[in-house]
Amino acid sequence: MDSTVAVVVCEGYYYPNVLNAVKRGIQLLGGIPRFCEPGENILLKPNLLAGEPPEKAVTTHPAVFKAAAEVFKEAGARVSYGDSPGLSSPLRAASKAGLHRVAEELAVPLADFRDGRWVSFPEATISRTLKIASAVLDCDGLISLPKLKTHGFTRLTGAIKNQFGCIPGLVKGEYHVKMPDIFDFSRVLVEINLYVKPRLHIMDGIIAMEGNGPRSGDPTPMKVLLFSTDPVALDATACRLIHLDPAHVPYLPIAREAGLGTYLEEEIELVGDDIAPVVRKDFNVVRKPPERFVTSESFPTFLKKLISPKPVIDYKLCLRCGECIQICPVKQKAVNWDSEEKDRKPVYDYKLCIRCYCCQEICPARAISVKVPLLGRVIHR
Ligand code: SF4
Ligand code: SF4
Repeated sequence: MDSTVAVVVCEGYYYPNVLNAVKRGIQLLGGIPRFCEPGENILLKPNLLAGEPPEKAVTTHPAVFKAAAEVFKEAGARVSYGDSPGLSSPLRAASKAGLHRVAEELAVPLADFRDGRWVSFPEATISRTLKIASAVLDCDGLISLPKLKTHGFTRLTGAIKNQFGCIPGLVKGEYHVKMPDIFDFSRVLVEINLYVKPRLHIMDGIIAMEGNGPRSGDPTPMKVLLFSTDPVALDATACRLIHLDPAHVPYLPIAREAGLGTYLEEEIELVGDDIAPVVRKDFNVVRKPPERFVTSESFPTFLKKLISPKPVIDYKLCLRCGECIQICPVKQKAVNWDSEEKDRKPVYDYKLCIRCYCCQEICPARAISVKVPLLGRVIHR
């Protein structure tokens, strides 16, 4: 296992600088021939959570995407790209995020992330069959282009979490329903990574997202690109940049145990620029260890309600768009309209809620945040 992470400082998204930075990062890891051969089908997988403009820092920036596409095309690869956004179509999301225009410029086609095929993965401990997007199954090599952002459920969304988008469409919601426990869900994330095995991860941390991520947080400059073949080492390095203990990101210890990579500082080799000037101790992220949401039937419901973190809607910000309802994976819908009236609003039924926070993830209006009730704060302090 090569757990080298290349750190390249990049001040902004001025394209010539980004292109140089991407070339330098790849060179620091051994050069482009290590990652593709001429004629291979290389699939770029940016973070395309939703159709949001680049300045919101929800998606991988078009300049980083363009630089990666250009470098792999120059190496003689046949490059395509795609992702499976939360609700909208991949094309619509890519257009709003500025990726489609860049892709057209470089003649990089959008690959099929809407359909997928079931594959068997007998080594898995949680889900021995996985539905993976056809684009991922049909490529020769996957290159992951994650965005450095906070996440309500997993603390961080970076390299490992980016591969959840290899699961097509609404199947993603089924995983949340089957695995409401954060540690089970983390194991699935790790197993998806073990199956799809990206050859390289290039993280866009030039403008990151802090606060109420992954869609409703605040863009903040981190001025850095990270490169690695080890997604665990890459995410752990991102954690160190934002002063977050990597052991508090639930999937990182699980990933190390499963042999995906390492999050331990002494096992990671950093090359390139010094990370010390990039570290942001004031980065707004939840720094506490993850808490297991109590799903056991034997645990009294009134106690669950009193201690568990829960999504809460700020009705002053709510647009009444209904995206939270659409994405809620629970069959009976744990968030739903309160009436049929014109001025209806979405309300939670916390008894049905499995705390997957998909609603918080998808809300386009920053109206949903995750709150820990007072008793929960006292117990988990
Ligand atoms: S809470 Fe967010 S997602 Fe739900 S209706 Fe309001 S704006 Fe839309
Ligand atoms: S209400 Fe939100 S957090 Fe609860 S199950 Fe539905 S999407 Fe998940």
